[in-house]
Amino acid sequence: MKPPVSGKDKDEVSRMDEHTPRQRIRALLCEGDWSTRDLAQCVGISERQVEEHLQHIARSLARNHTQHLLVLPSRCVHCGFTFRDRKKLTKPSRCPRCRSEMIAPPRYTIRERDNKQR
Ligand SMILES: [Zn+2]
Repeated sequence: MKPPVSGKDKDEVSRMDEHTPRQRIRALLCEGDWSTRDLAQCVGISERQVEEHLQHIARSLARNHTQHLLVLPSRCVHCGFTFRDRKKLTKPSRCPRCRSEMIAPPRYTIRERDNKQR
């Protein structure tokens, strides 16, 4: 006699196990753009862990000929100033133009490489 285990529940658990957090992050990045906080909430890990996964994803995509990791820069919510020249990926604390501290964090997305034209 088999114990009464619900087959459906078991399948759902094993499906979740198939995807590591990094694979799930990568899948999310292919669908849209996300801040580290968004990704942390979706995948259920800390923002710090998300940042580590992003570094690995960026490194592996550096050798990828069809896709790349794009960083959309931090932006001032108050005046719309974008921190384009910022080298660091962390969120700036204050807008240099209007001094607002309401800064939208950088967002990450995976885009197709635009190398078909040349
Ligand atoms: Zn501003």
